[in-house]
Amino acid sequence: MADTPAFCSYANIGFGGKSLPDLCEIQHAILESSVPAVIATDVEGTVVYFNPSTQRLLGYSWEEVVGRQAASIFHLEEEIVARAEALTLELGRPVPPGFEVFIARLGPAPHELQEWTYVCKDGTRIPVCLWVTALHDSERRLIGYVGVACDQRGRQHVNEDLRIAALAFESQAAIMVTDAQQRILRVNPAFTQLTGYAAEEAVGLKPSILKSGRQDAAFYRQMWESLDSTGSWQGEIWNRRKCGGIYPEWLTISAVRNEAGKLTHYVSTFSDITDLKVAESEIQNLAFYDPLTALPNRRLLLSRLGQARLTAKRSLQYGALLIIDLDHFKNLNDTLGHDVGDLLLVEVARRLRDCIREGDTAARQGGDEFIVMLENLGTEGAVAGIQAEVVAEKIRVSLNRPYVVAGDAQHFHSASIGISLFCALDKTTEVLLKQADIALYKAKDAGRNAIRFFDDAMQTALDARAAMESRLHRALARGEFQLYVQPQFNAVRQLIAAEALIRWQPPGEKMVAPADFIPLAEETGLIVAIGNWVLDQACAQLQRWGDDPRTAGLHMAVNVSARQFRQPDFVEQVCLALARYNVNPGCLKIELTESLLMDNVEAVVAKMQALRRVGVRFSLDDFGTGYASLSYLKRFPFNQLKIDRSFIRDITTDSDDAAIVRAIIAMGNALRLQVVAEGVETAEQHAYLLDHGCTCFQGYLFGRPVPFAEFERNLGELPPAAGAGDWVI
Ligand code: C2E
Ligand code: CA
Ligand code: CA
Repeated sequence: MADTPAFCSYANIGFGGKSLPDLCEIQHAILESSVPAVIATDVEGTVVYFNPSTQRLLGYSWEEVVGRQAASIFHLEEEIVARAEALTLELGRPVPPGFEVFIARLGPAPHELQEWTYVCKDGTRIPVCLWVTALHDSERRLIGYVGVACDQRGRQHVNEDLRIAALAFESQAAIMVTDAQQRILRVNPAFTQLTGYAAEEAVGLKPSILKSGRQDAAFYRQMWESLDSTGSWQGEIWNRRKCGGIYPEWLTISAVRNEAGKLTHYVSTFSDITDLKVAESEIQNLAFYDPLTALPNRRLLLSRLGQARLTAKRSLQYGALLIIDLDHFKNLNDTLGHDVGDLLLVEVARRLRDCIREGDTAARQGGDEFIVMLENLGTEGAVAGIQAEVVAEKIRVSLNRPYVVAGDAQHFHSASIGISLFCALDKTTEVLLKQADIALYKAKDAGRNAIRFFDDAMQTALDARAAMESRLHRALARGEFQLYVQPQFNAVRQLIAAEALIRWQPPGEKMVAPADFIPLAEETGLIVAIGNWVLDQACAQLQRWGDDPRTAGLHMAVNVSARQFRQPDFVEQVCLALARYNVNPGCLKIELTESLLMDNVEAVVAKMQALRRVGVRFSLDDFGTGYASLSYLKRFPFNQLKIDRSFIRDITTDSDDAAIVRAIIAMGNALRLQVVAEGVETAEQHAYLLDHGCTCFQGYLFGRPVPFAEFERNLGELPPAAGAGDWVI
């Protein structure tokens, strides 16, 4: 074993035999630290030097290698033999297997690059790129060889990657490679197939040729931000084919950077996901909709309920959950079979959909149970309860209609409905559903075909309302209504008219004020029958008044509500009442409120004119509380306007109210309308009104509403022209 590394002798040879220790050291350092494996041999191929890199690569120590034949240690026997045969053929002279194989071609050329396989000490084979150089002394005599080998394993990976990339390029997914400026460099056949652009057309253009316009600037900004920061982006995007068709694709873009970190390319792969989207929506349908009725299923309802409650929290509006269960559905299923049962459920779903507004949800919970969710029922619990009940009742009635599902036979089915109200996030979703369920059981307990609320207070209120409604229905037939009259006086304290005001006296109970039952009568439509009764009674009284010299010529004011006035036969009903008692139509005055005048102006005017032609007069009631619009007074043929009580009340203390009242009086006088002040309670109010030109008065100061008999007693013995008897103050 050599004592000194053979390297120095080689180096000396390499540099003309001169001893240049400095240079030698430098070269030594280079060789010792260089990455490639460096092996030096003499002319016979005996290893005289190899660097640490070779030691690391092949696993041999210095002692194991130096002084031995390079070919037999590092190389595969069969590779040497095979190459010797190939070289013999190529060079036309025999090349013996062994070290000669490495140098056989080293003729005049000083270098030779060859691909070889190295065998490590542990038997591992490493592909290397071997660079062989002949070494000569100063007399140009060959003295040895240096082999510099580079491990090719990494390179092989690169090659493999390239092969894979090439294969991948032929894949089903469209691929587009652009440069850093986004100019298209390459596209694959799948790209052409998908987009319609041939490679020759696309190359050189920008990917924006594919833009569909469906994504906005913000979308692209976010995409580029992601590409810049993470190097990639993927997502769904709509693109346009060359033929113009738009399709959804799944796109992945990767930014490619070189070793220095500089962006060089973008690689985009994408595929058409139209089919996928169809599948997705099918899955959604299956996951969120009931396949039989196509209504949302319980899962979707719960999700919408969650959203609705969040919205409710912000808007403070109430919503309601209605659980609807078909009564005795099982019987139908058992007797007529499931097919008929299914048809019935489909029909129920259709009716439910018809009963709700657009923003509401009707869902099938499963079996014969349905859930309806109502939203935006207002900010007051009581109002929301009424609204929910109105919808529930509509559903109940609709589901009660006969079903024709099998042949011509009609089936009758009823439903029980449980309701729970929600507002904000006061209850959890489960609690809400449970409450509606409890309410449903209450409805079933009540004999089915019924509606029940979970909330007891709500139920009590609605029960009371329902009870009042049925009592109100009977009240007319049972003669529980009475007409009171309140007198009206002119500026010189003469009794000129009386307003008829209804009272309800249920037997054995407190008298009910009109404010407590007129709105309910309006809602239920009972107001029409009640209003006709009032008209009848008023006309009957006018007839009696006509027979009494003290009251002959008195006018009677009758309140008519909007719903009553809108009846198609309203004019006829009024005329009939007048004729029935042979009353002078000029004595009847109909009081209307502004709310009636808001819509269907022409129809309202026509009806008023029809009655005006007969001689009936009109008064605009509660003036000032609505729009107090001058245009109402001009457009509609009124004879009188009544200043609302709320302005009169504070007339002597509130300057605004006083100003409004003065303006109303001025307006009325200018339009030649009689102006009546209602609710006059004090002498000060009376004096102020008189001072400012008001000519008619009604109020407790002059007399409260009283029954006809009392009214007549109050008349006293004096004729109206001389004053109003007891009423005069
Ligand atoms: P309205 O037409 O404004 O009737 C005047 C109301 O003011 C009456 O209340 C009357 O009793 C009350 N009032 C009169 N003078 C005074 C006063 O000096 N001070 C106070 N505090 N109140 C006074 P009522 O009788 O309770 O009637 C309430 C409302 O019910 C009526 O308001 C009217 O809108 C409606 N109404 C009454 N009778 C009928 C009817 O037969 N048909 C219809 N559709 N509505 C009616
Ligand atoms: Ca009135
Ligand atoms: Ca009034």
